[in-house]
Amino acid sequence: VIQVKDLYKVYRMGEEKVYALNGVSFEIHRGEFCAITGPSGSGKSTLLNMLAGLEHPTKGEIVIAGKHIEKLNEKQLVTFRRERVGFIFQSYNLIGTMDAVENVALPLSFRGMPRAARIKWAKQYLKLVGLEKFMTHMPNQMSGGQQQRVGIARALAMNPQIIFADEPTGNLDSKTTMEVLKLMQKVVREQKQTLVMVTHDNNLATYADRIFKIIDGKIVSIEENHHEVDLVQLEESMQAAAEAQ
Ligand code: ATP
Ligand code: MG
Repeated sequence: VIQVKDLYKVYRMGEEKVYALNGVSFEIHRGEFCAITGPSGSGKSTLLNMLAGLEHPTKGEIVIAGKHIEKLNEKQLVTFRRERVGFIFQSYNLIGTMDAVENVALPLSFRGMPRAARIKWAKQYLKLVGLEKFMTHMPNQMSGGQQQRVGIARALAMNPQIIFADEPTGNLDSKTTMEVLKLMQKVVREQKQTLVMVTHDNNLATYADRIFKIIDGKIVSIEENHHEVDLVQLEESMQAAAEAQ
């Protein structure tokens, strides 16, 4: 569903050139969960932003669902993002003056969904992420993990073919991280979506089907996870072990 060919992104900093991406090629299949790992400054966010149509590549090809993203103009990119992709940011990017339901419902308005339907739909997704009690909370009345889940509900509610997540659990404690990841894994499997997640946490990457490692703007390895970790099963066995003690 995603094909990337010889992708470059060069930033100009005065006289200097920064090769944020230095010739990257790969494919991601429909329904796959891929993790992108690598050290800080290696080009992970740059890559994700270009896949999601948030930034233009300097050179190279990005084909998503048969469309050449690098050839789209700004207006076409807006349409592409609204129709095809969901994005989960590390910093939530919630609108501070809107409550949880309104935050999730907002992007649905771009699809022309009437207000009543939007609100109903948004509530369903907030329930799904375990926030039924926080529907009318404003972002500043919620914890980091709760805000992150609003951000996830907002992305999932659009039911996009592909979800891009940049350090989606970066600000969360390990218990919440586990819950959020489990939730994302479950929903994208159920809805047969493709998930591309940037993380510097190697533990989280082990839940992915494949792990891409980037160093200095180059992919240095693509590793396949053969024995896939089923998070639901893992949690059950951890609980059973705790109860046995
Ligand atoms: P982190 O793990 O810290 O988020 P990253 O792998 O996501 O790092 P990127 O944000 O993709 O790294 O940045 C890759 C390189 O490109 C870095 O050297 C960074 O300084 C540079 N860079 C990123 N965005 C810009 C920009 N808008 N202008 C100039 N340089 C940039
Ligand atoms: Mg980054």
